[in-house]
Amino acid sequence: MNDEIKTIEFLKTGLSLQTHIGCPIKCSYCVVTGFYDDMAKSQQLVDTDTLINDLITHEFFNDDVILMVNNKTEGFQPKVEKYTFDILDKLKNYGIKNPKILITKLPIPLRYTDSLTDNNVFVFTTYSGMPSTIEPTSTPTNLSNIVNNIKVLKQHSDARHVHYWRPIVRNINSDSDIINNILDNVNGVFECSVISGIRLTPVIKQHLESRGADFYDWNGDINHKFLPEDIYNQITQSKNALCPEYKLFTKTSCSISHLLNNFDANLNFVKRNYSCSVQCPNGSICKSYQPRYTDNEREILKKFNLLDCANFIDGVLYINKPISQELKAFLTQTIKLRIIVPETLKSHTEGIFNARNGRSL
Ligand code: SF4
Repeated sequence: MNDEIKTIEFLKTGLSLQTHIGCPIKCSYCVVTGFYDDMAKSQQLVDTDTLINDLITHEFFNDDVILMVNNKTEGFQPKVEKYTFDILDKLKNYGIKNPKILITKLPIPLRYTDSLTDNNVFVFTTYSGMPSTIEPTSTPTNLSNIVNNIKVLKQHSDARHVHYWRPIVRNINSDSDIINNILDNVNGVFECSVISGIRLTPVIKQHLESRGADFYDWNGDINHKFLPEDIYNQITQSKNALCPEYKLFTKTSCSISHLLNNFDANLNFVKRNYSCSVQCPNGSICKSYQPRYTDNEREILKKFNLLDCANFIDGVLYINKPISQELKAFLTQTIKLRIIVPETLKSHTEGIFNARNGRSL
């Protein structure tokens, strides 16, 4: 496996753009800092001009795909923030109107509000009430700092704000006091929350268990996040009791689609192994989805040499050869069809992740 780090890669939610990778905050549940050697500090991979030029010519770039900016680092740490905003400014100058996701645990300096304005930006701010011994930025005043920061940002920019409630770990940050306090703070400030579990590896599991976490029902899957059903139910019940109008999602793509007034770009609602919540506020929009297979969709398949091995049957596109995770995610979002293939090949990064973390299972 070639360990070269890609600066542009199609992940589940969109096309990820990196000038940097790695993070000095060193949250002890993080799969990024345990990913490559020396990830506990951020390294610059590329300058912003090169990154934007590579994006514009990239095979997975079009006017619709969601762009994720510096999401394999903390994009607002002092060493990286000017690059994060330089990417945003350059995308704006080029007239690239695609939705842009920023993910952070830190308040955003107000000097950057111009970069956030008129730029189709969605800021996902992470807070889940972790103890600072596990997540060093998570201090008792952090939630109020974040909330105050978002309130001011909303006065000065048109960025949309989503609360990223992750990771949620049983016996660490699943107490009802913590849940109720978070709901009390985020309701009315953020447009919605995305609640998410934790991506476990044996090493991360062992470490968090030593801090009191309970993973008795984890099935050993290192490829998907783990959110116990009882914790999910507890959060939705608290939400319904405290702030019934507030919106919760479990998928990033669902929250973005809802804010864009569209059906889920990842088509979770047609996946066999996924059940949409009956409470989902986007349910009626997703139900309006109609699969289409026209010359437009065929043109895109042709570009990737897949037209001859594609069959559209009962709203599903069958491609009779293995394709990569990246290509499958890109095609799903671009041609907006459920795709079934004989085999999905691991993406570059996931391949490295599995090689490094699967061995110890
Ligand atoms: S209906 Fe399902 S796919 Fe659509 S936004 Fe809601 S949870 Fe996501």
